Amino acid sequence: MLVYNQEELVRFVEEAKQYARYGKVADYIPALGKADPNELSIAIYTPDGRVVDAGDVTVKVTLQSISKIIALALVLIDRGEDEVFHKVGMEPTDYPFHSIAKLEEKPAKPLNPMINAGALVVTSMIQGSSVSERLERLLAFVRRLAGNECISYSDEVARSEFETAFLNRSLCYFLKQHRIIDEDVEELMELYTKQCAIEMTCIDLARIGFVLALDGRDPHSSEPLMPLDVARICKTFMVTCGMYNSSGEFAIKVGIPAKSGVSGGILAAVPGRCGIGVFGPALDDKGNSLTGVKLLERLSKTYSLSIF
Ligand code: GLU
Repeated sequence: MLVYNQEELVRFVEEAKQYARYGKVADYIPALGKADPNELSIAIYTPDGRVVDAGDVTVKVTLQSISKIIALALVLIDRGEDEVFHKVGMEPTDYPFHSIAKLEEKPAKPLNPMINAGALVVTSMIQGSSVSERLERLLAFVRRLAGNECISYSDEVARSEFETAFLNRSLCYFLKQHRIIDEDVEELMELYTKQCAIEMTCIDLARIGFVLALDGRDPHSSEPLMPLDVARICKTFMVTCGMYNSSGEFAIKVGIPAKSGVSGGILAAVPGRCGIGVFGPALDDKGNSLTGVKLLERLSKTYSLSIF
């Protein structure tokens, strides 16, 4: 039985915040550079429908790479495993998330859907007749998972990334040259940057984490929001690739399926037990929330949350 005590959680947040000075806010997307590195918040969605939280959980976080797991789920539902994994692999990597190096090897297929090259392929597979229709389909899916009809994207962050995403454009052109994608690069960049700029609170993140923890079922109605197999694949990628090229260390120290984003957000799913949303914009050198990882490590050790 999990007994998440609010005062204890506040104490854990204060402890983890001490590490903020060793981290750095992402500023390669200029709008993200405005974040306060000392911010740290967490929400835990528990099986009885309670949310235990600490820090300011009303702050909205852009999903950034966390969106990759949700886009993957949608595309797996739309197109099935065979079509998706024909274009993107299943293997972790020790290269950084935006690396182009592996695309120069044969086959040029991206290693997994959690690095940018793979995520761009996944986003290119979102069905719909226009960028806005495809974005709306993704948003509708996100809103159902979060149980929150108000979720949208930050125009400021999307625009800021769109104007500066030269590395991601390079990945797209490589992928296009190798016929892994065939759509217009600017259209794909528009969809991808808006996908990454979808914003929500830690409470929404925690609820989505809990849906995954429940094998894709709605926490209240038990209605399946995604097939069990899709939830299983998502959680597996969260373990093997969710924390960039420190997923191995995270698996050992924390042991919870999780996906981070360079905004400082982390979405975590403790199978059958709870969903967790964290926001701490001070990042480590791999792009993970430094304070968020410290906090999850403390939580996992205190409540034996490791799945291993
Ligand atoms: N939008 C970011 C990018 O493509 C997401 C990266 C991340 O969160 O890791 O660079």
